[in-house]
Amino acid sequence: MKTRMLGSHRLHPESLAMSYGYEASWSEGAIKPPIFQTSTFVFESAQAGKDFFSLAYGLREPKPDEHSGLIYSRLNNPNLELLEDRLTLWDDAEDALTFASGMAAIGTSLLAYARPGDVVVHSGPLYGGSDHFLHHVLRDFGITPVGFLAGRPFAEVKERLEAELAGRRVAAVLIETPSNPTNSLVDLQAVADWAHALPQAGARPVVMVDNTFLGPIFQHPLKFGADVVLYSATKFIGGHSDLIAGACVGSHAALTPIRGLRTFLGTMTDPWTGWLMLRSLETLKMRMTAQMKNARYVAEYLAEHPKVRKVHYLGLLTEDDPMFGVYRRQCLSPGSMVAFEVRGGEAEAFRFLDTLKMIRLAVSLGGTESLAEHPATMTHADIPAADQALLGITSALVRISVGVEHYEDLRADLGQALDAI
Ligand SMILES: *Cc1c(COP(=O)(O)O)cnc(C)c1O
Repeated sequence: MKTRMLGSHRLHPESLAMSYGYEASWSEGAIKPPIFQTSTFVFESAQAGKDFFSLAYGLREPKPDEHSGLIYSRLNNPNLELLEDRLTLWDDAEDALTFASGMAAIGTSLLAYARPGDVVVHSGPLYGGSDHFLHHVLRDFGITPVGFLAGRPFAEVKERLEAELAGRRVAAVLIETPSNPTNSLVDLQAVADWAHALPQAGARPVVMVDNTFLGPIFQHPLKFGADVVLYSATKFIGGHSDLIAGACVGSHAALTPIRGLRTFLGTMTDPWTGWLMLRSLETLKMRMTAQMKNARYVAEYLAEHPKVRKVHYLGLLTEDDPMFGVYRRQCLSPGSMVAFEVRGGEAEAFRFLDTLKMIRLAVSLGGTESLAEHPATMTHADIPAADQALLGITSALVRISVGVEHYEDLRADLGQALDAI
């Protein structure tokens, strides 16, 4: 289907996932798009090549309804264009870009906007790779990260944050909510309103949200003032632990500098991975819904288990929590990431992890199979001990990405591993 409409009825993303942007008549009637495993595309004429380049390089404005022609797979490719069209649907975005990894999406987006002397404001905790990119890679280019803690009302941290900015230009704000691994929340609207009203010369800060944990099904940051939504598509979007990819969505204007830099860094994804993601998008809502239902059973079971001290799960937030209102406003479900502390420390957490049988001991998340890991010594090992303590990453903390298995089997495996402590 080329359009999102059925007469006056607007089709939903789960229906469009199988067809949007593709016509079988383009490919011998094939119901699925073939893989366009090609590096380059033949121009019909020299003039056509000239027209494609002048548009791709922004040397002229597009004519009404003109789309960029296919040139070379670092710039565009049919599989990536189909995927990008379909990625706009859930977030109701104007435009989307796909990348070779989540880090390629995050790195390319930040480099497209930040310049030496600028500040990038960020929430904490962040995914370990993003934290490293801000504190080690960007810092070497003279770009300063300034952080604030997730899980607290933004009004509480605003004053200290502004003092730390000391009049420097804020190029971007990078928010991760819910945060990895503790499911702490950030009030998207409060931060976006603050960032967009900062009194500074030149462009206003670009508000970027890493939506990997709940999106694109259960959280839509563009509705709460975000400019760019970032994904590690390796996780729920890919969903089968068999590919590495990334994406970003937003307005055409917000994505134009990122698309430009992607062309020159070559951080786009490839046709085969793009094709795999097209297939994955067809089952995205089903998978994320099944995983979320399982996670509720898992979290409830853990919360009542005598060997468990504390469970971090959005579905267990109570009304007296300062983040409860934020949760109700911006999250459509609690998702399927659960973190919990066993009674004891590293030895007890390791005993539990080593005794699991069906749930696999591995980092990453969002796939069909359940995975468990130890953030303090694995995904978040890079974070100094004092900061880990501040962020709630204790030696007893275990993170579980809940898959689509039968919940009774998940409970049985968790139970026998907890018994071993
Ligand atoms: C995994 C992850 C990333 C990095 O994505 P890659 O695809 O591994 O590069 C970024 N943010 C979050 C929240 C993640 O979980």
